[in-house]
Amino acid sequence: MIDINKYDFSGKKALVRVDFNVPLDDDFNVTDDTRIRAALPTIRAIIEGEGTAILMSHLGRPKTGPEDKFSLRYIVGRLSELLGEPVHFVDDCVGQEAVEETTALPEGSVCLLENLRFYKEETAGDEFFAGQLAEHGDVYVNDAFGTAHRAHASTSIIAKFFHTDKMFGHLLSREIGSLNKVLSDPKKPVTAIIGGAKVSSKITILENLIDKCDKILVGGGMAFTFLKAQGGKVGSSLVEDDQLELALKILKAGEEAGTQICIPTDAIIADEFSNEAHIDEVASNEIPDGWMGLDIGRNSIEEFSNVIRNSKTVLWNGPMGVFEMENFAKGTKAIADILAETTQNNGTFTLIGGGDSVAAINKFELADKVSYVSTGGGAMLEYLEGKVLPGIAAIQ
Ligand code: AMP
Repeated sequence: MIDINKYDFSGKKALVRVDFNVPLDDDFNVTDDTRIRAALPTIRAIIEGEGTAILMSHLGRPKTGPEDKFSLRYIVGRLSELLGEPVHFVDDCVGQEAVEETTALPEGSVCLLENLRFYKEETAGDEFFAGQLAEHGDVYVNDAFGTAHRAHASTSIIAKFFHTDKMFGHLLSREIGSLNKVLSDPKKPVTAIIGGAKVSSKITILENLIDKCDKILVGGGMAFTFLKAQGGKVGSSLVEDDQLELALKILKAGEEAGTQICIPTDAIIADEFSNEAHIDEVASNEIPDGWMGLDIGRNSIEEFSNVIRNSKTVLWNGPMGVFEMENFAKGTKAIADILAETTQNNGTFTLIGGGDSVAAINKFELADKVSYVSTGGGAMLEYLEGKVLPGIAAIQ
């Protein structure tokens, strides 16, 4: 497989799948440019190597063809500003005129093609459409981790038109490298912290991690399904009654594999789902009727912190409580703090991934104090589930 660091881009047209699916306000200003910034190292590598960067992306979910509000033209200004280079916009992603425009671009320049999802063929993974896109480039670079779990025309099908000239961009390489540091070649002991609302959405992840981790810390709403399955009293906490048996099976699988699955021993409880509710702290398996657990308690924070301090590799997915409400954010904040502390002081490799834990680490302004924060929500979760991602397989 080609390594982007060693590839000679000189005179080459590099067709790059990026993820510029960024939020825009009503005046079409980019309100969060994280994804654009994340693509800059790859774009710079191409143009500094005297190649031409032809960027393609999706934006939003256009229904039946072109819709102005989903035009990538609105991204050009910010991209150009961040890159410090002019960016040419091509108002279609396929077709003779579009190809003529990209063919005429001088070496060292950058252009952005119009939204791929203006064609339903993109998400359908249409091979003819992928071939039309491929006409723009001599070499294909996939740098869109956020869509790597989709077998779309531009993320996976297109790779077959490039035989050997295909590679991961810098962002995708870092994502895969970081995930492999946890899943394939970790420094032990390895701990996974899995939280969030529902156990049903994390079952496959838990099952896949049991063999790979020394300890799994379970927090968030999903802990109460485990607690109820063990015979605990959980009041009106979030519980999935149809998952009780599976929860017991997971605990048993952990025992058999020698992987300790730690369930919180205490909880912050509330008499309603509100930041203004009355609150109390009790044993997590003795929650009175009418009360619900909305965060882990102080003992659990202590226990979880000790496990994290003694780990060399830690993966965190999912908050410990309803961290969006100030009164139930302490558990999640404590975990974020301890992760930052062990990364800095013990050299522990800490990987944060999956929607809400990323939101949490950003909220507590600790993203730059942990080892890696993944950019791909769904893709990261599928990777953790042990699935082969089409966007990665197509290059490998
Ligand atoms: P997920 O997307 O499955 O990672 O779930 C994240 C959501 O879980 C967040 O919005 C949290 O507010 C929510 N959550 C965390 N702990 C609890 C809890 N104890 N009860 C209800 N919801 C929770």
